[in-house]
Amino acid sequence: MSTHTPIEKFYQPQANAEEIDLSQLVIVDPCSQEGLVKRIPSGQIPVRYKNRYKTMHKVRCAFCEQRQSHNTGFTAVMSDGRIALCGKDCGRKYFGDDAARKLESEIQSAINQAAATEIKRRCFLYLPALIEEIERVWLPLDFAAREVVSKVPTMRKSLIKSRMTPERDLLVIETGSRHDDVVAVVKAAYLLEQPRPAFRDVVGDCRAILKGRNDYGLDVSEERRIRLARDLQGKIKTACSEMADLKSFLTRSNIAALRKAVRFYFHGNAQVQWVKRYGRPVMRIKRGSNGWENYEIPDMPALPEANTLIPDLIPKDVV
Ligand SMILES: [Zn+2]
Repeated sequence: MSTHTPIEKFYQPQANAEEIDLSQLVIVDPCSQEGLVKRIPSGQIPVRYKNRYKTMHKVRCAFCEQRQSHNTGFTAVMSDGRIALCGKDCGRKYFGDDAARKLESEIQSAINQAAATEIKRRCFLYLPALIEEIERVWLPLDFAAREVVSKVPTMRKSLIKSRMTPERDLLVIETGSRHDDVVAVVKAAYLLEQPRPAFRDVVGDCRAILKGRNDYGLDVSEERRIRLARDLQGKIKTACSEMADLKSFLTRSNIAALRKAVRFYFHGNAQVQWVKRYGRPVMRIKRGSNGWENYEIPDMPALPEANTLIPDLIPKDVV
């Protein structure tokens, strides 16, 4: 895992002087703008929208007869520089559908661009430290725990599938003459089929976002990088919850349940045990007539928490 580019060598985004800050394109207090006119005579059409707003308090439209009060709309700029508030639906009614759509799509693409810049700014601010923490603390633990899980004898896939709960635990079912009994529940048994550490994908995505290149050295488009950034929080959550599942999978009681599962669903004969050796928890496995193999279970005293790993990357009110 040490073959990666050092963090400080990541490409930094160029500041674009032309670009308007997101906080000026999506606003919450449109009435505080200087030079607002209350009324625009009918028939006059703005040349552009300056921003989009969503207010707590109702404001009044300058374009319609009734001066409709509303919470969401646009600040319109007229050809002579006057600015005025326009309710969200009034543009379509009074400027014509095409003109209104054009104004909306122009401001929306400016918002999207500013949002992308803001997302990138946050990525460059937070991701290097995140990569560092994951690689130093969580990835080694993730690997070590999964390494142990990967040693569990492969059980009959079709049986496992049919006995998996929606929570992805495994029911160990004893088939009786009258009814079936659940004799054990193996928590987080889905991990048996998912040996890949989720944190590795998180780190891969972080690097692709920062470098514009993936682990295979292929270019990652600007659009894709923003999409990866948008999905990152979700992936971090998954990685954290898988760590919690790894911990509960490797407990003494769960390995006792696993022992039953292996006895029921393994092709030949295999045994699994949780024991302590030299004061350390160990998973022991015996396959057929071979001797016992011992796999030390890593200590997992603390677990990563998604919401403390990084703050929000995606600005609020912009989707
Ligand atoms: Zn209106």
